[in-house]
Amino acid sequence: MVPYLLSVSFIELYAHLLIAVPIVVAVILVAILIVVMAIKWQLWSARMRRARRAARAIKFRPDGQPYPPSGRGMCDICEQPHEKIYYLSDGQRLCPQCYATLEMSPEGQNSSLPPKESP
Ligand SMILES: [Zn+2]
Repeated sequence: MVPYLLSVSFIELYAHLLIAVPIVVAVILVAILIVVMAIKWQLWSARMRRARRAARAIKFRPDGQPYPPSGRGMCDICEQPHEKIYYLSDGQRLCPQCYATLEMSPEGQNSSLPPKESP
């Protein structure tokens, strides 16, 4: 007497599972792969947006105007050496802090800045 689990009728009854299970597993794996790739792409594009914003923040002021040319040097106001000094068109040399302070003050508004360009 052949046990039921090894009988031909059992194999015939569950033969479709031999095809269906690998297909279902493959579909699930592909779905997981697509979800993982979508998440990675989202993270990558968010990182690129942040990097682009950071690069733009270095070159452009919050109001969209470009910062003046810069380099190392001494600030004319605080008279300290800085890694970054803005060379204004009127000959002034200002560190970022003093430049921001001058920009905030009413007399410093657009006094020595290049003409506004659309971003
Ligand atoms: Zn300064």
